[in-house]
Amino acid sequence: MCVRSCFQSPRLQWVWRTAFLKHTQRRHQGSHRWTHLGGSTYRAVIFDMGGVLIPSPGRVAAEWEVQNRIPSGTILKALMEGGENGPWMRFMRAEITAEGFLREFGRLCSEMLKTSVPVDSFFSLLTSERVAKQFPVMTEAITQIRAKGLQTAVLSNNFYLPNQKSFLPLDRKQFDVIVESCMEGICKPDPRIYKLCLEQLGLQPSESIFLDDLGTNLKEAARLGIHTIKRQGFAVLPKLVSNSWAQAIYPPYPPKVVNDPETAVKELEALLGFTLRVGVPNTRPVKKTMEIPKDSLQKYLKDLLGIQTTGPLELLQFDHGQSNPTYYIRLANRDLVLRKKPPGTLLPSAHAIEREFRIMKALANAGVPVPNVLDLCEDSSVIGTPFYVMEYCPGLIYKDPSLPGLEPSHRRAIYTAMNTVLCKIHSVDLQAVGLEDYGKQGDYIPRQVRTWVKQYRASETSTIPAMERLIEWLPLHLPRQQRTTVVHGDFRLDNLVFHPEEPEVLAVLDWELSTLGDPLADVAYSCLAHYLPSSFPVLRGINDCDLTQLGIPAAEEYFRMYCLQMGLPPTENWNFYMAFSFFRVAAILQGVYKRSLTGQASSTYAEQTGKLTEFVSNLAWDFAVKEGFRVFKEMPFTNPLTRSYHTWARPQSQWCPTGSRSYSSVPEASPAHTSRGGLVISPESLSPPVRELYHRLKHFMEQRVYPAEPELQSHQASAARWSPSPLIEDLKEKAKAEGLWNLFLPLEADPEKKYGAGLTNVEYAHLCELMGTSLYAPEVCNCSAPDTGNMELLVRYGTEAQKARWLIPLLEGKARSCFAMTEPQVASSDATNIEASIREEDSFYVINGHKWWITGILDPRCQLCVFMGKTDPHAPRHRQQSVLLVPMDTPGIKIIRPLTVYGLEDAPGGHGEVRFEHVRVPKENMVLGPGRGFEIAQGRLGPGRIHHCMRLIGFSERALALMKARVKSRLAFGKPLVEQGTVLADIAQSRVEIEQARLLVLRAAHLMDLAGNKAAALDIAMIKMVAPSMASRVIDRAIQAFGAAGLSSDYPLAQFFTWARALRFADGPDEVHRATVAKLELKHRI
Ligand SMILES: Cc1cc2nc3c(=O)[nH]c(=O)nc-3n(C[C@H](O)[C@H](O)[C@H](O)COP(=O)(O)OP(=O)(O)OC[C@H]3O[C@@H](n4cnc5c(N)ncnc54)[C@H](O)[C@@H]3O)c2cc1C
Repeated sequence: MCVRSCFQSPRLQWVWRTAFLKHTQRRHQGSHRWTHLGGSTYRAVIFDMGGVLIPSPGRVAAEWEVQNRIPSGTILKALMEGGENGPWMRFMRAEITAEGFLREFGRLCSEMLKTSVPVDSFFSLLTSERVAKQFPVMTEAITQIRAKGLQTAVLSNNFYLPNQKSFLPLDRKQFDVIVESCMEGICKPDPRIYKLCLEQLGLQPSESIFLDDLGTNLKEAARLGIHTIKRQGFAVLPKLVSNSWAQAIYPPYPPKVVNDPETAVKELEALLGFTLRVGVPNTRPVKKTMEIPKDSLQKYLKDLLGIQTTGPLELLQFDHGQSNPTYYIRLANRDLVLRKKPPGTLLPSAHAIEREFRIMKALANAGVPVPNVLDLCEDSSVIGTPFYVMEYCPGLIYKDPSLPGLEPSHRRAIYTAMNTVLCKIHSVDLQAVGLEDYGKQGDYIPRQVRTWVKQYRASETSTIPAMERLIEWLPLHLPRQQRTTVVHGDFRLDNLVFHPEEPEVLAVLDWELSTLGDPLADVAYSCLAHYLPSSFPVLRGINDCDLTQLGIPAAEEYFRMYCLQMGLPPTENWNFYMAFSFFRVAAILQGVYKRSLTGQASSTYAEQTGKLTEFVSNLAWDFAVKEGFRVFKEMPFTNPLTRSYHTWARPQSQWCPTGSRSYSSVPEASPAHTSRGGLVISPESLSPPVRELYHRLKHFMEQRVYPAEPELQSHQASAARWSPSPLIEDLKEKAKAEGLWNLFLPLEADPEKKYGAGLTNVEYAHLCELMGTSLYAPEVCNCSAPDTGNMELLVRYGTEAQKARWLIPLLEGKARSCFAMTEPQVASSDATNIEASIREEDSFYVINGHKWWITGILDPRCQLCVFMGKTDPHAPRHRQQSVLLVPMDTPGIKIIRPLTVYGLEDAPGGHGEVRFEHVRVPKENMVLGPGRGFEIAQGRLGPGRIHHCMRLIGFSERALALMKARVKSRLAFGKPLVEQGTVLADIAQSRVEIEQARLLVLRAAHLMDLAGNKAAALDIAMIKMVAPSMASRVIDRAIQAFGAAGLSSDYPLAQFFTWARALRFADGPDEVHRATVAKLELKHRI
């Protein structure tokens, strides 16, 4: 299907409703929400089950009565007995069990017939697989309905089976919503159950159609404003139908046996306006004006195919292919497709079916899946115009890019297959297949921009500001390097034929716009749907869908996937290509608009088309703005920080005796390759390998970590929570395999990259922020506190023996560790206060002390406690403390209790209160020597200090993202929350605060890279002062916007908030950082 012809189609009229006008108005107010405000088209079909999707109980009863020689109508009469309070209706409301129902029901039947009635066997038949089977015609209809993007629901009066499962012998995946009376405790025709169904569909009554075989049920639905279709049911003996509840089982009229689901489907088709039966999909009878002479065609085909005798030639016309009319032909068991030029005088370059034929033939030889072309007939005497014939390729064409009814993994596979086939097209060797002259080589984008600007100007009717800006902007931002390959020109999902069961592209259709050009234009074009709303005419979009939940790769990921498959570096300027693609669509739409003004179209139609152009041009401009920001972010900042800091920062650290300080103390010697030039403020401006690592991590987060969060969270709330989740262990292995492991260790501490990824602090800041968007990612990547600080301590100060024993298992993720400093009896924000004693005894140290808030100590994997105590209380204040490595299995370590933070236990590591009673540790476990504890503690908290801040930026970004999604979709007081001024103000405030804090984090990291940790003391203190409070405020605003849900554990917000708040202590109290900032400010800046 060619997009250009689609835009010319009268189908354009089908969705341009109030929604668009509203949206356009809102955009002008700065809002980006798309609202569907209803209209005349239907958006869901609701099915009753028994009698519509599967045979009705009445029909089953009749069959059973004949087989069992029971007087006809007995079962029905008994089912109706008691009306609303009879056993049948109570059974359907789950007020009685299956056993209870059968007891009462059997009694009723037996009383009626004065003999025992084997009702159990009726029930078995009713619920048997043989009988309770969905009508195939309904299965087909549901598939077609969903393929058109409508929702489907089943609204059934049903019951619980003896095994406690509800009776619903349907494939649940066919339905977006399932409402079962036995689960809700209410039955049709109670209006509440219809309302519940509509609520779950998120629709107004007038937007849905309801099919039922019972008059009462339909009457109530109609009363509520739902469109109804009556599926004619089985005949009933009218005399038995005595009250309204009887109709809940059987309609009393008309007593004719039609029992024909097909009739219902036909009625449904009439209402929906599309076919629900599968013949040759997407075809219809040939329009009068499009008829072609069958006889001469048949003769031509007989010759072509070498067929002697043929039956009649069957001819249908495809829905798509308006530009070049396309026909389905069946002749002598051959399924063929004919594509021809339209009749009449044509522009010389238009409708070049010869080119289509040529490219498909060439590509088939190169292994690209295309229909098998048989012949090009340029002799207009055969059917009036030139045409070509190809084999019909049966398979599935997905018209709705949200791929309704598929599993997320299947959707992902479909998009991956689409990406792969595009790579195949773009990898074709032009020379080998003889296509070097298929188009001009090089300069494709500049030529295209010129062409479309010209076309737009030719059809311009009024000034569209976004188009004017784009016309200026596009030529200035043309990509520097372009490859030349075959480009399809209209590459999108509904131009692909898929294998019915496998995610495999069988054929790429519609090569009308193909040429030689820049392949990235195709990639961008295939992502248009990602940015269009689902109600967009012609090109149905998915921008209002939750892609992660659907399993559909986001556009960015789709681009990445493409580059990876093609072996190309990531496409940095893909926003340019998106801007260009939307510009092109806007120019096409403007042409349609112009023609509609001068042609026969109604004024509403013309107005709607005009609005489309404006809408799409605004989208194009959004991408131009994004591209502008990307370029801006990549511009290196000139080193603004050295200016004032070097007046006071001494590069030499007082706490590192090893001489390795050269890495951080002297800026010129810094290995921080990306930081040396300037402050890297966005991941896009990281060096290529680190950027690649960043994107790999991002992909991992999207594919592995976020989807695992619910399970990990429920593990933390389960009885097994004090044991590590097996899923975490599994994810750790995956992270390790992908090289996303131990990223934290700064290059400065590990210059030979012996232990870590060798990143600078700034580089890690970007990655750490990303990990911080999930509470679980830091552990998954072995980058979580307190292990990171302890590992760094061992790298910096540990002996080789200590490293071998402790560092290696920690680096491998086999062990975990804790850091014990804080004591309940003293103010531990001042580390000199701590009282735990470390006494020398023979060749051992003996420790005694009471500690609390020791993070990670409850974890069964915790093998090492880095213990801080006093070896000499009489030494100078900062020389009294020492650090000991204490194996967790040493006798005398008594965990008293896990502490909770706002009720959270943070299992399995927890935060423990613990006593150390005469714990004997070999002397060689001392780190660095007695009296060196204070300097070690300071060093341990060096870079590790700002890791929390980096993660807090991640918390905040995720909270803001969740908030934005929520307020766009939630309505209060008649409009979406996002349109409330206070919500907008909150969003703005949060964005500003995040950006401010991020800059400060990066500045601190940058300074640590350039001048060393000590020189960065002020910046470290500043960001530690700022980040937790900033995150608390941003998360708090998100929680507020979520309503009560924000406090629940359904979202990560409550936990984010808890940990952000806790970090105002855990990372040192705010006041201590404030005191540091003030002290340094007064000391150095007076
Ligand atoms: C979730 C969590 C995890 C933790 N994990 C660990 C761990 O793994 N290992 C560990 O040893 N400890 C850990 N801690 C403890 C944390 O390090 C201490 O709580 C922190 O150092 C403060 O010590 P304190 O609680 O004794 O408060 P105190 O020292 O008693 O201070 C109380 C309050 O006094 C005020 N104050 C303190 N100093 C000043 C000042 N200079 N100027 C003005 N006001 C001031 C502040 O308001 C401060 O909050 C953790 C804490 C939390 C909440």
